[in-house]
Amino acid sequence: MANVKTIERGICSLCGRALLPNEGYCTLRDGSHICSLCVSKIRVMHPLTLTWDKKGNEVKHDPIIELSLEEAGKDLKNAIAYTEELRAKYDHHNAVFMVESVTTEKGGFLKPPVIYACGRVIYGCFDPEDKARLLHNGSASDITLTDIRKLASYGASGFDCQGTGGKPCAIVFSGKNLACEAGDLIVKD
Ligand SMILES: [Zn+2]
Repeated sequence: MANVKTIERGICSLCGRALLPNEGYCTLRDGSHICSLCVSKIRVMHPLTLTWDKKGNEVKHDPIIELSLEEAGKDLKNAIAYTEELRAKYDHHNAVFMVESVTTEKGGFLKPPVIYACGRVIYGCFDPEDKARLLHNGSASDITLTDIRKLASYGASGFDCQGTGGKPCAIVFSGKNLACEAGDLIVKD
């Protein structure tokens, strides 16, 4: 069955790579498929947003599926220049995350609280163990990231995900006396 699926899906209309059966891909407005690598390259220009229905099921809002193949191809060519423009706008940080909501958890005996900053990667890439800075009300605090989690209706889920440009996720870190709220930025240099 896996082979049949591969043939059905065919190749990525942008880069020509075969679409693997276990790989995510995106179907564009005109019905053409593009592979996850191409999607991740243009994601920064078309951020994914998530909402949840009353039952807590995730609803994805993906602007990429509204593109034609021609538009997606143009975006692929412009993605690097677009990211450079963003970088200039955000003081040339290597990566920027926008905090949209925060939940905290007690860290246990003598341990600092754990902070789950939910939001979106504006550009760049965040990984566990990255050194980053939390920018809050004009002050900067050094933090070390522990996890990058998928979002859920209640905040950060227990599942890991990639923290790349245009993707919603939760950045997890801990520290004493750290204030973090909606509108703060987490940056890497
Ligand atoms: Zn591709």
